[in-house]
Amino acid sequence: MLRKKLMLGALSLTIVSCSHDISAPESIQKNAETSFSSPEKAYPHEKGEIFYLNSKSSNPTRVDFIDGKFIWNNDMILSEDQVAKLNNPNLAERAGSNDLAKRWPDGIIYYTIARNIPDQTRITDAIAHWEANVPSIRFVERTSETNYVMFTVGRGCSSFLGMVGGRQYIFVASSCNTGNIIHEIGHSLGLIHEIQRTDRDSAILINWENIVNEETSHFNTYADDNINGFQFGPFDFNSIMMNGSFDYSSNGLPTIVKLDGSTFLANRSSLSEGDLETVSKMYDHPEINGTSIICDNRSVTYNLDTFVPTAPSWSVSSNLQIISSSNISITVQALDSSTSDEAWIRTDMNGLITTKEIWIGKPLLPTDLIHEPVFTCVGSTITAKILGAETYEWSISRGTINFPALANDNTYVGSSDTISVEPVNDPNGFTVQVKATNSCGETNYFSKFIPTNCNDGDGGSVPL
Ligand SMILES: [Zn+2]
Repeated sequence: MLRKKLMLGALSLTIVSCSHDISAPESIQKNAETSFSSPEKAYPHEKGEIFYLNSKSSNPTRVDFIDGKFIWNNDMILSEDQVAKLNNPNLAERAGSNDLAKRWPDGIIYYTIARNIPDQTRITDAIAHWEANVPSIRFVERTSETNYVMFTVGRGCSSFLGMVGGRQYIFVASSCNTGNIIHEIGHSLGLIHEIQRTDRDSAILINWENIVNEETSHFNTYADDNINGFQFGPFDFNSIMMNGSFDYSSNGLPTIVKLDGSTFLANRSSLSEGDLETVSKMYDHPEINGTSIICDNRSVTYNLDTFVPTAPSWSVSSNLQIISSSNISITVQALDSSTSDEAWIRTDMNGLITTKEIWIGKPLLPTDLIHEPVFTCVGSTITAKILGAETYEWSISRGTINFPALANDNTYVGSSDTISVEPVNDPNGFTVQVKATNSCGETNYFSKFIPTNCNDGDGGSVPL
């Protein structure tokens, strides 16, 4: 059904591309293989139906339909849902969580390896390489989880893009080496190809005249294809997701060169520093920065503390309303400022979920000044603790505040809710006072008389 929609909609629609290899003369391909830069392709020896999703643009996006699968840039398999999103001309509808590659929740990728794959150390080595280098992702052998990757025998090397849902495959042909599998796992985590970066023209020259005609769509940037993509650091020739100079060549001449005209091979030995940074950004949880208390009916803005690889989908608890939101911030307000209640703000970036718990309404203030021991001689600790107060102003009538650091007049003004007091040896006792102020500017005052008795002869605390 989707194929029919694709064909019907092909004239007016948009999106997607990526890049990759094949098509280079056989001699060059062989050379590339022996130097570990073998290009990945899902079906190296087959040609399917070709669809152009963005036929009105100068570089239409190509999707191949082979063996019941939609193939993008030769080695990325797209779900029907992903193809439908690519085929949506309305950019606004594709904002937010509609990005192509969904992340694995908490960076955990459940997986199984089909028993009939020969030389399975290729796969386990590739998994170990990812785990050893990216702390924010983990691979766990699947037991009964619904969403998981199955490594299975294929006719080439290919993977679905991001977490698709349910069982998804990474296809491993006998020609796929460990480096190719590291690359394919990159696709399953949500990476596309390095050449799709929007800044690639600052690092490479594309020799369009050397590219096989049908393959030019693989040289689109993600912006060309209206993808909501991302990139970090400088363009990375060493990325495991980068092509080689001769990929898609029609004539044996390079299709991609560095700005100085030199050629390069694709790295398929290990993840680059840029790869590690990119995946870490994708799977490290960002913090939602902002106050932990919303006072009264004020509107408050919260910001994500890091780069946002995917337009976030914001949600809030039912006692909050969203005033406005963007990719990096959200402004909220309490629905009813007369109540005091727990609340939360959450962002879901294609499976990367962060929650901030907050308090709305009138903040709590200290309700009592606790001191112990109840009766004291020397070296007593006085405490006052409760959610809401942000500053405390401590003073004592006689004796010394030993902790924390004091102003010259032996008082304390700051955020410490605990002070340590050393009273003088005075049978009349002394008084501790504190003014507690919450983030809404409300204050409570406390004053406690604390008797002293040091007549037991050993300096200990003795009740009067
Ligand atoms: Zn690829």
